[in-house]
Amino acid sequence: MSLTEELQEIEEQLQNTLVQIEKLKLVAESLEDQNKILREKLSTERIRGEGFESLSQLYDEGYHICHDYFAQRREEPCLFCLSFLYEEGYNADVNPSSEKDK
Ligand SMILES: [Zn+2]
Repeated sequence: MSLTEELQEIEEQLQNTLVQIEKLKLVAESLEDQNKILREKLSTERIRGEGFESLSQLYDEGYHICHDYFAQRREEPCLFCLSFLYEEGYNADVNPSSEKDK
């Protein structure tokens, strides 16, 4: 095989490799998208499942559990937190600042 032929063969192989890389990039992209969706789903389900108890506890202790202010100190009842809790079937005291138990 002449040097020119060898170089042509290598060139062909490289082109094939590039085509494969392009295909794999597409596969990787769709897997990453899928992974992202699954992670989001998983974290939502965690919040709805066992994590929910500790979230309502966190709210009771005076912290935000809503998306915008998550884990920040809560000075007064927060409508976003409450709507999340009620949506999830939380049976909290409607007025968290009530003076009972004192
Ligand atoms: Zn909040």
